[in-house]
Order: sequence, then structure tokens, then C-alpha cells
Amino acid sequence: MFSEQCYEWGSKRSVIRELFEYGKQRAAVVGAENVYDFSLGNPTVPAPDEVGEAIRDILVTETSIQIHGYTSAQGDAAVRKAIADYLNQTYGTNFHQDNFYMTCGAAASLCIAFHALVESPEDEIIAIAPYFPEYKVFAEGSGAKFVMVKPDMENFQINIEALGEAVNEHTRAVIINSPNNPSGVVYTEETIEKLAALLNKKSSEVGHPVYLVTDEPYREIVYDGIQVPFVTKYYKDTIVCYSYSKSLSLPGERIGYILVPDEAAESRRLYLSVCGAGRKLGYVCAPSLMQQVVARCQGKVGDINAYKENRDILYDGLRKLGYECVHPDGAFYMFVKAFGGDSEAFSEKAKEFDLLLVAADGFGCPGYVRVSYCVDKAMIERSLGAFAKLAEAYR
Ligand code: PLP
Repeated sequence: MFSEQCYEWGSKRSVIRELFEYGKQRAAVVGAENVYDFSLGNPTVPAPDEVGEAIRDILVTETSIQIHGYTSAQGDAAVRKAIADYLNQTYGTNFHQDNFYMTCGAAASLCIAFHALVESPEDEIIAIAPYFPEYKVFAEGSGAKFVMVKPDMENFQINIEALGEAVNEHTRAVIINSPNNPSGVVYTEETIEKLAALLNKKSSEVGHPVYLVTDEPYREIVYDGIQVPFVTKYYKDTIVCYSYSKSLSLPGERIGYILVPDEAAESRRLYLSVCGAGRKLGYVCAPSLMQQVVARCQGKVGDINAYKENRDILYDGLRKLGYECVHPDGAFYMFVKAFGGDSEAFSEKAKEFDLLLVAADGFGCPGYVRVSYCVDKAMIERSLGAFAKLAEAYR
């Protein structure tokens, strides 16, 4: 006997992975340069030079135990202090080292946060569509019910009215992600203010805090001077789940953190619950070398201009061809309306032209596809001919 639920998660690949694997098979047949693979969100921009410099320096200056040994379960104290100092300088906050728990990236941050919050099978975690599909697995894995709030199809900000209807006495947390995967939209200050007002009202109505979990792997990946509101400043019961996977282009190194601010309701107990969840899941002591690396690279980001260039070429190119796209202000995804309205059929049709576009049904938003543009610029330029043929097929 074993877990049917885990078997199900393990045996069904995500649509994204499915498409990526298909792309590899197809490349073997027609040549990699003829497959336009927009499936994965794997950063193509190299890690900033400071990452390599930090690794080299740490390797020669630190002892083996400092480089490879265990740190405290919640992460090295000096590393957590460096992160707190950086955020305080940047956002005018007042964090300290004991607000932070180092993790193996955003996925671990979210799993730990959900396990820390969820108490009974009646508990609910709400995600706002379009959302990162793994949220469902992480929420259900923590024992909660996963609840989806339908998107605001006008501008892909939060559908506040629908969210208000979804929150009830079972709601433990609402999860948001901005800049957003898959839409590329950045939630405005007005949106965050409305969200905070709603959650304050609902928390008093239901008689317990409705925590806001903010998933922020793309916080620094924004274009044209767009500002990403720092959520803890707007809503006190916020838990930040951060990752260096995208900002420092380190997805394979598995490093990030959870931030539980002092202002959050029952902050100390909640932080200790995070520590307990980390322990329960076996996620103690994030990679020691990488902890030290990120401490030295606070405020550094990969070359965002490369992503912006890709965005501009793709956005302008697709618009000229008659595609309707949500204007992406951040992350490295473009959300494109499927011709014919059926995203799965559209994604299948796109394959005929070796264009790999992810149907957005799994993101809670049928009728769209996600185009991940963290790819080579030359591939985007080559792909426009295939996009033209795809559009032509629907005329
Ligand atoms: N959250 C979002 C919105 C993501 O896009 C991703 C990865 O693509 C993750 C979480 C997982 O990030 P990590 O690699 O840091 O676990």
C-alpha cells in the first residue's frame, strides 16, 4: 500500500513538463533550431557576476564546515540578518533575523507556509486565477482544500468581488503572486490596498486572521520603472515566500526564504509553526553555501534588459499579427488569447508549426495560452514566422 494521492501527483506530468518533453522529442526529428519552445520558465539570463565571485571567494576564505556544514535549522543567523538589513534599507521596513526562515526556493517556502497554517481538512487556501498550477498540489498536500477565485478578465488584477465571496470561516490563507506567472501582470498599489481592506474586513467577520501568502520569485523582474508594492506594508498578516531562482538565475541551487513579520497576528507562534513545518517536511537547513552566496548578493539581479528586449519583440510582433495579449509588466511570461477560444485546441494547433505554447486551463484561466519568453532572442525572432502561420490557420 502507498499513497494514492502521491501516486497521482507523481504519475501525471504537468502540462508544462509534458510540452517540454514533447519539444525535446520533436527537436530530435526536425532539429532544435526549428522548435520554438516557449514552455518552461527556466531563466536564460546568466547569474550576475557577483554570484560567481561570491562562490570563489567563499571557497577560498571559509572553512569546510562553514561551506558545507549544517547551519541552524532556520538558516544561518548572519545570512538572515543580511536579508533583513537589505529589505529594511530598500523598503523602509523593520525586520530582524528572527523574522526569516531560509528555504530551498519558493516551492519549499510555500509548502512550509501552508503546512504551518493548515490545521483541519476543512481549512481552505484560496488562489486567484490565473495562478501557478503547483499551488493546488502544495495546498492539497498540506491537507487544505484548494479554492480558486476566477480572474478579472479586464486587466488580470485581482477580482476583489469574487474574492470577497470566496472568503469564509474556513479560509486560512489567500495566496497571491505578483509579478504574475502566467499573466506577467504586476498588481498595482490600488489593487493591494483593496485586497488589504477586504482581508481586514473579512478577518473581523470570520473572527480570525486571514493570512495573505505572497509568492514573490519575480519581485525584481519588472520593466519600464514599474513599482511592485511591498505587501507587508499594506497588510500586516502577510507571509512572504521569496526565492532567488529567478532574480539571481539560480533555480537549480534551491534557495529562498519565508518572512513572518512581527506585525502579523501571533507572529512568534506563527514563526515557530513555520519552523515546525520545516522540521516536519524535512526542509531544515537550506544549502549552506548558497545561503552565504545570497547574503553577499543582496540587491543584485540578472540582466533584466535581455528579458525586456524579448518581451518587446514578442509583444510587438504578436500584436502586429493580430494576437491579443495582456501587456506584461513583469516576470517573463506573456498571456495570449487563444484563437477560437479553446486553449487546448489552440496549443495543439500551434504544435503543427512547432510552436510550444502552454494551454492556460491548468492556470485556472481557459481561453489563453502562456508564452514563456525567457529564451534566446534569436529563437523569438525565428518564431514569428510560425506565429504568422498559426494566425493564418484561423483566418
Ligand atoms: N511560484 C511561482 C509563481 C513560480 O513561477 C515558480 C517557478 O517557476 C515557483 C513558485 C517555484 O520556484 P522555486 O524554483 O524557487 O521553487
